[in-house]
Amino acid sequence: MSPIVEIENISKCFGTTRVLEGVSFTVKKGAVVAIIGQSGSGKSTALRCIDRLETVDQGRIRVCGHEVTAPGLDLHQLRRDVGIVFQSYNLFPHLTVQENIMLAPRLVQKVAKGEARERALAVLNQVGLAEKADCYPSQLSGGQQQRVAIARSLAMQPQLMLFDEVTSALDPQLTGEVLRVMEKLAADGMTMILVTHEMAFARKVADEVIFMHKGRVWEHGPASILDAPATTELRDFVGNGL
Ligand code: ADP
Ligand code: MG
Repeated sequence: MSPIVEIENISKCFGTTRVLEGVSFTVKKGAVVAIIGQSGSGKSTALRCIDRLETVDQGRIRVCGHEVTAPGLDLHQLRRDVGIVFQSYNLFPHLTVQENIMLAPRLVQKVAKGEARERALAVLNQVGLAEKADCYPSQLSGGQQQRVAIARSLAMQPQLMLFDEVTSALDPQLTGEVLRVMEKLAADGMTMILVTHEMAFARKVADEVIFMHKGRVWEHGPASILDAPATTELRDFVGNGL
């Protein structure tokens, strides 16, 4: 079976700053890949290139059968197959939780209202918030809002989920509830790429860890590389994280 994500030798500059340099990796269907590394190492940019929120200068990206770096890319199809969740939840404050979740299926996928409603309840169940369907975002904690943001992505029935430091704005207790949702998603077989500072979570849930340093994939292997770094850079990074 061919990988769901194939990244071949991508490079990217912002102005004169080289942010990604010769980055390559693949992700198999059902795998959980954690991207770690210092701030500024290119993690978010790499993730954003996968969903074409950024374009690359060089190299090739294929995701869920889409040639992301080709001129004829169907952006709608790509975004339909790839869900992305950020540190900020960006829920619409004037819509209920359920309405927030129904919005993209209704507008983008033209799903009928009844089905969109059912989907919303199903994904709210998945993140353990079915009882909050009629609440407004301001009535929820940060952790709950982030779980709604995850549910909103799931409602599009993606094949791949991208998470960029989704717990960074949350205090430890709320972080736990979001990580548990992600862990369950992984256990249910979702293919996931997550940028995270949660080393314990990466150790526990990730099938593979990618350590980025200065825009490159510095180390890539099973989560056990965190316990036996091959480079001083990863050793320093893991050491600092303790
Ligand atoms: P990370 O997620 O690992 O912290 P980023 O991918 O966000 O790293 O950023 C990598 C580098 O690219 C940083 O030096 C950052 O300042 C720069 N950068 C990111 N986005 C932009 C942008 N839109 N314009 C200019 N520079 C950017
Ligand atoms: Mg980042």
